[in-house]
Amino acid sequence: MAGTKQKRKAKIMKAKRTKGYPKMPVSSSKAGRPSQKPSKKQAEAAHRAPDPNIQKRALAIFKTLSNEFPDARCMLDFASPLELLVATILASQCTDKQVNIVTSKLFRKYASPADYIKTPQEELEEDIRSTGFFRNKAKSLKKCCQSLIEKHNGIVPADMEALTSLGGVGRKTANCVLGNAFGIPGIVVDTHVLRLSRRMGFTEEKNADKVEADLMPLIPQKEWTRFSHVMADHGRKYCAARNPLCDECPVGHLCPKLI
Ligand code: SF4
Repeated sequence: MAGTKQKRKAKIMKAKRTKGYPKMPVSSSKAGRPSQKPSKKQAEAAHRAPDPNIQKRALAIFKTLSNEFPDARCMLDFASPLELLVATILASQCTDKQVNIVTSKLFRKYASPADYIKTPQEELEEDIRSTGFFRNKAKSLKKCCQSLIEKHNGIVPADMEALTSLGGVGRKTANCVLGNAFGIPGIVVDTHVLRLSRRMGFTEEKNADKVEADLMPLIPQKEWTRFSHVMADHGRKYCAARNPLCDECPVGHLCPKLI
């Protein structure tokens, strides 16, 4: 009986891991628990009055896409905030699938920020080579891990300001870590979210941070992370950069098709 219970527990842990949940308790740098407080910029943007017509359309699109992609989630494999931080840095200009292939070996070799620092630059570059831009990414990883050790005792902080002050970490990476490792909502403006938001007429901006600021007041804050996931899934399945499948699109009737 005890054996069956143990097997079931192991199965649940495995399922959580493949869905991108952290396997260990998360902690912030100072308080020892994640901060739910949005940054000043987030709070300002969230309270800016949105265009009611655009907001109505955005909510309808979000609802439809949520039904279309009920299992939308972070596609990067990770088991701790540090692993997600590293995977997100590697995901720049690379597919999540390729990053997962690389990190499946990488995370066995590098378990802590200190491991990234003590490994020679050239060796780290080789270990992440197939994610592209490996020299810059290796530099970013080392810089980031150095700051983690110096400022946060080697623990990934659950705070936007602290995360973006780490070397090589911008708002996209920070929002990804906050939303998926700590449960703090954030809009991840990746290539899909940026492209779709412009096509759908939610923004005219090209800069990711400005796009994020335009999206914030359109979508309820608690849905920011999920919004990012369903938009990314929609971008992969229907609204590709080239030849979007507008005829089959589930939100075609809501989209101004600003392609
Ligand atoms: S109608 Fe076309 S451009 Fe608009 S969201 Fe759908 S696939 Fe993308």
